[in-house]
Amino acid sequence: MISVPDSPGPSMDAIATSYGDITFRSRLEADWAATLDSNRIRWEYEPETVTLASGALYVPDFWLPELGTWIEVKGPGVPRVEKTKELARIRACRCETSCACRWPGGEFVVLGRPSLASDRTETGHRPRCGYANWETPFGPSTYFVTCSSCTRAQWTILKRPWRCRACRASLKSEQVHRPVDRFVRFIETTTGTGSLFAMPDLGEPFTDEELGLTEDAENELP
Ligand SMILES: [Zn+2]
Ligand SMILES: [Zn+2]
Repeated sequence: MISVPDSPGPSMDAIATSYGDITFRSRLEADWAATLDSNRIRWEYEPETVTLASGALYVPDFWLPELGTWIEVKGPGVPRVEKTKELARIRACRCETSCACRWPGGEFVVLGRPSLASDRTETGHRPRCGYANWETPFGPSTYFVTCSSCTRAQWTILKRPWRCRACRASLKSEQVHRPVDRFVRFIETTTGTGSLFAMPDLGEPFTDEELGLTEDAENELP
């Protein structure tokens, strides 16, 4: 082993977890793999060791080969993201005029974070119905969008060239989602024996009507 993986550090998430044929370094990484599967996003786990300017070696967690996108999973607390920031900088587009990169804007880097809990957990959702949470290590905010031309879900920034990272169709008229929109369901692996396509049946979230929630009720809190 010459590579030194960027450890998430000691935390409850840093428990080796199997999902499909792969043993991930942490439960959170396995959950991200399951979440990518549920969105039909192809991924590879730790396919490349990147040498940074300092000579340090860095192994990003996920490469999404159809989307030219990296996902670095970081657990709770204050993550050390310097290597991830550098990866984002060195792989971004440097085209002077129109972008000639293989992927629009160059390779793209997303920080995968622990899920956002449902805001209706107590009365409505089962505990596993969290939502995916992500951040941008460098540059403008990152949005989740699904291309209606090729149906591929992906992360992107609202900056030209604003095109599907897989098929280059325009994304101008697509709806984009931030993490706080709680749109992307986060899939949690169960006991470490989960397998591809054996995702928990989450069902549909409860509606406000079913929960008896109204805006007035939510606004009553001090
Ligand atoms: Zn470019
Ligand atoms: Zn597309």
